[in-house]
Amino acid sequence: MPSSRLTSHVVIFPFMAQGHTLPLLDLSKALSRQQIKVSIITTPSNAKSIAKNIANYPNINLIEIPFPIVDGLPEGCENTSQLPSMEFHFPFVQATKQLQKPFEQALETMLKSKAPPLCVISDSFFGWTLVSCQAFGVPRLVFHGMGVLSMAITKSAWFHAPKLESMPILDSLDLPDIKTPFTLTKADLPEPLHSPELDDQFYQFIEEAGEADAKSWGIIVNSFEELEKSYIPSFESFYVNGAKAWCLGPLCLYDEMEINNSTNPSHSSTSTQWLNEQVTPDSVIYVSFGTQADVSDSQLDEVAFGLEESGFPFLWVVRSKTWSLPSGMEEKVKGKGLIVKEWVDQRQILSHRSIGGFLSHCGWNSVMESVSAGVPILAWPMIADQLLNAKFMVDGLGAGLSVKRVQNQGSKILVSRQAICEGVKELMGGQEGRNARERAEGLGRVARRAVQKGGSSHDTLIKLFDQLRVFM
Ligand code: UDP
Ligand code: UDP
Repeated sequence: MPSSRLTSHVVIFPFMAQGHTLPLLDLSKALSRQQIKVSIITTPSNAKSIAKNIANYPNINLIEIPFPIVDGLPEGCENTSQLPSMEFHFPFVQATKQLQKPFEQALETMLKSKAPPLCVISDSFFGWTLVSCQAFGVPRLVFHGMGVLSMAITKSAWFHAPKLESMPILDSLDLPDIKTPFTLTKADLPEPLHSPELDDQFYQFIEEAGEADAKSWGIIVNSFEELEKSYIPSFESFYVNGAKAWCLGPLCLYDEMEINNSTNPSHSSTSTQWLNEQVTPDSVIYVSFGTQADVSDSQLDEVAFGLEESGFPFLWVVRSKTWSLPSGMEEKVKGKGLIVKEWVDQRQILSHRSIGGFLSHCGWNSVMESVSAGVPILAWPMIADQLLNAKFMVDGLGAGLSVKRVQNQGSKILVSRQAICEGVKELMGGQEGRNARERAEGLGRVARRAVQKGGSSHDTLIKLFDQLRVFM
């Protein structure tokens, strides 16, 4: 009923990393379009960049809570992108525990208002929000930023962690709770599962967050049923109170609706201008390793040589502040490739007609965005759930190929220039690449249908709110 929808209100509490925040901003926009009021709780410096992103949405508001001052973290750091390296991630995650009090104060104020929130959507890293939500009698929905299959595998592996300890890393691994569409090995699991140390602080943190997760009211998933329906029962079996996984994705497509419906012509960035000049459709490979991965400068040299040797035009986003093209390369790549060192609009790039492939680290957002745009992936997974995502995309869905890794584990170079060159040539010009592109394009059509009126994700969103209103 539209009248009750107008007063519906949701609290969203994203973890302060781009890969966690951006999909929840897309979700906020989708809710706002359904006339649902959204309050995003975050810290002051994150609020500043989020404000720009949601400027056209009057019913999304920002609530600021202060970030604690913590010894050992850089001053003023409120976001993982401000951390000098991955080593700081755990102290940062730990520090967010201190947000509990101000979070509860903000929640209490909202509960006393005319439109008390129907639920809290919390990042899974904030396990403690379960206690807060229970204290105030508000349902907690948890968001992991991962796919259903990866979450089910990871949950099952944690559950059986002690048994995994003695297993050789490359032996095939059968988990009793989930049937995987590819051969799984321990090496594919997130690193803490390779040799779990039960008394380790990080392990304990994950345990705590996992226990809170299991007792949540529901799970918001950035995926769509047509892609991962068969893994949902296994994933849901880890939730002790019968929580449901609500597949609402691809969340990035809710943002795209805005791009497409916008009456303002979208601003033309350097990347878009350059892509417009590449006249052959599907001819350019887009290269990006996301916002977290540490890629050494010598490895970046290898990427540069591999891309140049492949002969295909490329658009490459580089995060390293210290790296520059190896000498002599500048001339060679002139006109053939664009290297960008700033933040780009990845969704816009992937949906450009000139883009024909994506050399990606397979972060789940990148996978969803590639699938949404119907672009096949050349998978180079690095950490966390990326190895599982890559196998799913390549072996499970047939919508990508894998780069070959250097066998010598001690080497600083993980992927050689030859492997990059060969991978790019096959994806962009070979038969296997053509097959993967066809699969990706098919998935893209299904993904876009899912978020339209009558589509699976669109209808799930309506059902979720019908159920939340009954619950309140
Ligand atoms: N942005 C982002 N992550 C970054 C940098 C930028 O998501 O690390 C996005 C941000 O959400 C905003 C836009 O890019 O929509 C501009 O952000 P920024 O705060 O960097 O603004 P600037 O300093 O470029 O004015
Ligand atoms: N992204 C972007 N522009 C950039 C770099 C990243 O828009 O220059 C976005 C990208 O589209 C994705 C997110 O940042 O939505 C990165 O998330 P992902 O899960 O792919 O990887 P992570 O950075 O978490 O490893």
